[in-house]
Amino acid sequence: MYDEKPYDFIGFPNRSPDRAKGAGQDRLQPELLSGTLELIMHTLTPVHVGSGYTDFLKAGNQETQAALQASKRVRDGNTLRRRYLIPGSSVKGAVRSIVEAITRSCVRVVQDKYRPYLPQGYSGCVRVDQLCPACRLFGAQDYQGHLSFEDAVAPPGSLVLLGVPLLWTPARGVRGLPPRYLDRRDTAKGRKFYFHAKFAQGADARACIKTDAELPLRIHFMNLEEAELGVLLTALGLHPAYRFPIKLGGGKPVGLGTVELEAQSLKLLHGRAALQQTGRLGQASEHQGDALKQLIQRYTAKAQALIEEPALKALAEVYAKEGLNNTAPAEPY
Ligand SMILES: [Zn+2]
Repeated sequence: MYDEKPYDFIGFPNRSPDRAKGAGQDRLQPELLSGTLELIMHTLTPVHVGSGYTDFLKAGNQETQAALQASKRVRDGNTLRRRYLIPGSSVKGAVRSIVEAITRSCVRVVQDKYRPYLPQGYSGCVRVDQLCPACRLFGAQDYQGHLSFEDAVAPPGSLVLLGVPLLWTPARGVRGLPPRYLDRRDTAKGRKFYFHAKFAQGADARACIKTDAELPLRIHFMNLEEAELGVLLTALGLHPAYRFPIKLGGGKPVGLGTVELEAQSLKLLHGRAALQQTGRLGQASEHQGDALKQLIQRYTAKAQALIEEPALKALAEVYAKEGLNNTAPAEPY
């Protein structure tokens, strides 16, 4: 899929960001959608989300110093057990990047050196009554987002110790953007996403969640338009016409972090859908199987109002599952 570089850029839309006032979080609005989406996350490669610590881990007869996987202690009967997990914040960050790329959303984290290369209007939102779709969904300064992601806890026995190539930081300390980030008119080419790939072997030891693990994931949402819920579903790789695994955590350039999401159930509170289902406002409804499929179809179709189709198409190509047939580069690129 790639000749030399393990990533590609998703270009910026031709139009300026799509800013509006958010619906707010202070109370449930019955004409909007609130509830919980339950998913299963399948790891298609090992996933590493660092805890920020390293320690000596046993691998065969040897002890290796390795970067630890994020974990927490969970009560299991009368005992507390350490369970490894993918933090909700990490999933949220990955999904937000996708939402930013497929809608007309701002570039929130801009290093000063990038700023001159951004298209007009694309630096971070500053007014709470003028927020891009990503800031409305995920939050901005002085605006609480409408989504909350729970930690995805891995089943016992999911940890594996791996050696991956040491990551090389491109062009550190260089002024401005490296030329390969710029197009012919000297604007940033877009937002960078890594292809999926088989992980490469190397000397950098990391504890990871192993391939083929299944982790339950819950996302709570409040006061969303149907189109906004559709954008979320699309960014999770669940759009019926654009299915793809997403990538999260550390070691993306060396082939870690590919996960595929599968929707299990959608619980709706107080919303129009609940009203249609039960005839009563304030009632919850739960949708699974074909009913859930139909709702995903409906919301992702509505999401067209917010989605930049060429960007979604480009992202679906970068995130094509077939990338897993290639091995990530083991050398700096
Ligand atoms: Zn924004």
